[in-house]
Amino acid sequence: MLNAATEQIRHNHEMLSRLDGAVGDGDHGTTILRAMEAVAKTVAEQKGDELKPLFSAIAWAVMSCDGGSTGPLLGSFFMGLADGAAGKSTFDAPALAALFAAGIGKLHKQSKAQIGDKTMMDAFLPALAALQAAEPSAGPKAALRQAAEAAAQGAEATKNMRAKFGRARNLGDRVIGHPDPGAVSVSLLFKGFSEAL
Ligand SMILES: [Mg+2]
Repeated sequence: MLNAATEQIRHNHEMLSRLDGAVGDGDHGTTILRAMEAVAKTVAEQKGDELKPLFSAIAWAVMSCDGGSTGPLLGSFFMGLADGAAGKSTFDAPALAALFAAGIGKLHKQSKAQIGDKTMMDAFLPALAALQAAEPSAGPKAALRQAAEAAAQGAEATKNMRAKFGRARNLGDRVIGHPDPGAVSVSLLFKGFSEAL
């Protein structure tokens, strides 16, 4: 799942930087790619099959890779996943929702942004809501597919928003019509997670 998410960013980083060029400084594709390459490198170097130490190692790698403003936020997401994965090795749909709730909850303490603020939370929070609303008996694959769809819709919806954070905030109405690159990145991560699972 992590490698598939990285692959999505590898394929789309130029598009992500173009999106950032419209609402920010044009570096988002470069910084998110750097962060996800740190994820992939950590996965490749993983010893053992325990999730908590893997997610912790990923969090530190992402936070120390110069991932721009996204790096520390993604780092706190993985730190939260480490908390949520403690002692767990198998995940049904509710357990998967609880795992992502731990990751996204930790991230949300850093970000403070809500739905409608034109940030990565516009993809993360709908994805989490979809995971939590998923029918348990339909299983984790269906839950994650619904989360990926919700993240994509959330990212698409940022086109119609003004920004409350970052450089885009200073551009006012000029960012209308352009999606938030961070939200698009997060939708790509969930697309990778879902397709891999
Ligand atoms: Mg930028």
